[in-house]
Parts: sequence; structure tokens; C-alpha cells
Amino acid sequence: SKMEVVKAVLRVESAALDKVALTAGGRDYTYAEVLRAAFRISSLVEKKDAINGVVANGEEKQVDAETGRKPDGPRIGIMAKPCAEFVASMWAAWLNGAVAVPLALSYPEVELIHVLTDADISVVVATEEYKEILEKVVEKSPGVKLYILPPVSSENDSVVTQSLDKLLVEVQSRASNLSGEEAALIIYTSGTTGRPKGVVHTQGGLGAQVRMLSETWEYSADDRFLHCLPLHHVHGLINSLLAPLYTGATVDLLPKFSTSGVWQRWRDSYPLGGEPADSPITAFTGVPTVYVRLLQGYEAMDAETQKASAYAAKQLRLMMCGSSALPLPVMEQWEAVTGHRLLERYGMTEFGMGLTNPVRGERRPSFVGQPFPGVEITIDDSDSDVKGVGELCLKSPSMFREYWRQPKVTKESFTEDGFFRTGDTVTIEDGYVKILGRTSVDILKVGGFKLSALEIEAVLLEHPAIAECAVLGLPDKDYGELMCAVIVPPEAKAKEAAATSEPVLTLKELHQWAKEKLAPYKLPQKLYIWESIPRNALGKVNKKELKKTLLESAT
Ligand code: ATP
Ligand code: MG
Repeated sequence: SKMEVVKAVLRVESAALDKVALTAGGRDYTYAEVLRAAFRISSLVEKKDAINGVVANGEEKQVDAETGRKPDGPRIGIMAKPCAEFVASMWAAWLNGAVAVPLALSYPEVELIHVLTDADISVVVATEEYKEILEKVVEKSPGVKLYILPPVSSENDSVVTQSLDKLLVEVQSRASNLSGEEAALIIYTSGTTGRPKGVVHTQGGLGAQVRMLSETWEYSADDRFLHCLPLHHVHGLINSLLAPLYTGATVDLLPKFSTSGVWQRWRDSYPLGGEPADSPITAFTGVPTVYVRLLQGYEAMDAETQKASAYAAKQLRLMMCGSSALPLPVMEQWEAVTGHRLLERYGMTEFGMGLTNPVRGERRPSFVGQPFPGVEITIDDSDSDVKGVGELCLKSPSMFREYWRQPKVTKESFTEDGFFRTGDTVTIEDGYVKILGRTSVDILKVGGFKLSALEIEAVLLEHPAIAECAVLGLPDKDYGELMCAVIVPPEAKAKEAAATSEPVLTLKELHQWAKEKLAPYKLPQKLYIWESIPRNALGKVNKKELKKTLLESAT
């Protein structure tokens, strides 16, 4: 028999409950253990704070006349590094018909207070290490209760004495009460183009999403994912945690990304000249910066370790990339080292994943592929001077329900015929979509030309003195916008330059080099050489912020 927590987010054969769901902190956790822990957290939190949502308290909630839905459950904030306690907390929220809100671990006190208030959170569950900061935060957030999670352990979980069969029946009965329209999750957008918005995903939408991903990317119960991403964005939460768990796979959680940690896990899985380990890592997904750093780590290894590392990486089934544009040189270097052409895909907090290159078949460099089955796209080029280049609009069964408490913004985000406006400018060749960038910050208007910052960044990254770069437009009275490039040289080049007190690169040298690669009007007109470019938890550059910094430094 199948069991479903919240429609489809967890669905495993009851026979497979003995299987390892998670590996974390050097310990394996079976599906049964995590499920028991979820029941324990659920019953303790419930007792403490009566967080009962739409499902657990038995009494039927009235349908709201305006929305035609039963009211959503209360919001439960979750603050923990990737670990078994995090997953158990999320399942606990869903067992109670509550809405899970994963909190960013890097938020300072004021941001946390803002999110708790904005999302109207009633209980925060967190691991011990966040106790101190949360106690302060909760004190300043009236009505919010804090619950510190004891570790998931067979000892603690013996609190839940029912047999697994009984628990499964309980899960099933709770799931069968759900219509699918209930809010399940609020995730905040990255805040690249403004203040982060709370995105409300429903039980049904999440279910559709995990099915879509696990079918298209051929996830199976034999897979073991190595997980190294934050859990407050869809990439880390859905692609590499919820979808694998839905499939009955195993997820190996690194508390934090480290290049040596990742390479080591791969080498442990596939020792050169030996037999693969039991349940070796088979799948991996990262943001472009993850692959950049893994390549840097590889460069720094001795020849023997390199050989063992490249061999191990080759053995994985699937390596995926997304969240921001994958620079071509990175893709090429990765393929040269590991033999893997990274599978690049495109998504947004609002609908999860929308477009993907295929698991089998051509993966086109610099393109994000085709719509997932069930996803429909159109390009709105009504505002564009080039036919076929315009805003990507998209429909998907995984579409979010609304921006949390922002009905007006929600309404404006959809076309009349119900397509979501992504705000990204794209073009299509042979059915493959190419992302030219966010219309508001990546599409520059320079002297009457519309230019894609992403395309120019991709070319600049081929220069040996440029390890990282961000291209953006600053207002200019003659050109409309002036194209600026902020670059970060590789460490060795920076040291060399410092020793000779020569600049790493001049604008003139850059123009000379780029002459054959870029038309004259596509050349940056200003060059900034920095030690690093500020990035968020997913390695994204906030260009609005960057623009502000540059404008402030100019005055
Ligand atoms: P905010 O909406 O708060 O301004 P954000 O759009 O960065 O921030 P996310 O939902 O995390 O928040 O990111 C979605 C965006 O990431 C997409 O709109 C797109 O611009 C970018 N993106 C995702 N995948 C890719 C990819 N493979 N290539 C290029 N861009 C990508
Ligand atoms: Mg966005």
C-alpha cells in the first residue's frame, strides 16, 4: 500500500519504510525514524501551542465565501541546517495541516523579526544552535512561540508508541482530508529585484512539482543524492530533497557546502580501482558557483587525488545546474574534468522548475531546454523591437497560489489568459529556450540597443584575468545606460598584479581582446576590479544593490 503525506510530497511503500531516507552528521535515518520523529514533534508542538490546522483537530472548518476554500493552517517557521530534524519538522507541520516556512539561516535578527511578522508565524521550531538568536527574536515578536527540537533518535521517538502500521493509517486519514488547495509552504523569493516576496505553494502544487521532477529526471529509489544547498529556496528544498524523498531515494545531507566535502563523498562512493561503496552517490545538483568552486578545489589537488576525483565524479548518473546562468567556460571545464555535460534547467520560486534540458538527448550549452511535460509557455514580444524576443510567460500545474498577502501583486503577475509573467527576457531556437536575463536588471538599453548582460558576462568570463563578473547598466544622459562590468580576477593574477602594482586588466586591454568576440556597441564602457562580488546564499548577484553601490561610490 502507498502512503501519502499531504497528497504526494512523501509517498513510499510501507515496505520501504526501513530504507534509509537521510544521511546526516555521520548517521543514517530510515523513513520510519523520520516519520516517527514527525509525529513526536507534531504532538509536542500541538500540545504546547495548539497549532492544530485544518486537518488534525477534527472539526470541519467553514469554507470562506470569498476564496471558496477552507482557511489555511497556521504558519510554522523552521530553522535548522539541512538535517533529519528539519525534514521531521516539515512533515510535522503537514501532518497538522499547517504551513511550513523555512527560514534563511543567514538572516540577522531584524530580518527574522520581519519574516515572523510578515508570514504571521505562530510557532518556530529550531535546532539547539539557533536557540540564542531565536529567543531574542521571539521576545520581540508578540504571539510567536519557540520550540527547540530534541535530536531525532530512537530514544526520543519512543514517545510515539503506536505501531508503524497505525501511524501509516493516521497519515493516510489526514492526507485524505486534504483537497490539495491548502497552503503547504511559503518560500521567500531571492530578493534580486526588490524586497523578497512570500510565495504560497499548495499541497496540490507541490505534489505536481515533485512528480514532474522525479519523472522527467528519472529519479528512482536507487538514487542517493548528495545535498549541499540551503533549504529556504526551491532548488535545495524541492529539487534535491522533497522530490528525492517522494521517490523513496536517499538524501545525503551536508550541513554546509564545502568543496573538499563534496569531492571526498564522491571518492568514498567510487574508490579508484576498487568496488563502489554500498548505496553510492548517484545524483548531484548545484548552482553555478558550486561548480566554479568545485573546479577550483580540483585545480588545487595533487595529480593522484585529481585522478581519483575525476574517476569518481564520472560514475554519477546525473549532475544538474541552475538558479542562475551557467557560464559556458564553467560548463566546458566541468565536462573536460568529469565527462558530465551539466543538465541545465530553469526555475523560479513561483512555480519551481519550468524548463529543462533532457536527461537523454541533446543538452544545449547556454540554453535551459524545453518545458517540462504539463508546462505551457508563450513569449510576449509585444513590447519588444525584435520578434520572438520577449517575456517568458508560463502555465504549470506546480504554479504558486498567490504572493502571501499581496493580492494586487499576484493579480498583476498573470496575463489575462492565466499565464504567469516571469519577468525574464528569452528567445527560442529549435524549441530550446535561451534566458537573456531579468528584464528589469539584465536587459540594458545602451544607445538604442537592447543588450543581454548574461551574454556579455559569458564572453567576459573567457578572459584569463576574469574569474567572476557582473555586467550592469548605470544611467547615462547620452547613452540612456552605460554598460559597466565589475570583475574579480583569479587569486593568482590578483597577487601578481599587486606585486607589480600594475592593474590586472585595463579597459583598453579588454576592448582589444574582445574585438573579435563582441560588436563595438556591446563592449563595457566602465570597468571595476573588485576582490569579490557580493552574492546571496544561492550565489546570486543582487544587481539592484550592486547598482546602488556603484552609484554611491561615483558621487
Ligand atoms: P526576486 O523575485 O525576489 O527579485 P529572484 O527572481 O532572483 O528574486 P528566484 O525565484 O530565486 O528569485 O529566482 C528566479 C530567477 O532566477 C529567474 O527569474 C531567473 O532570472 C533566474 N534563473 C533561474 N534559473 C536560471 C538559469 N538556468 N539561467 C538563468 N537564469 C536563471
Ligand atoms: Mg523573481
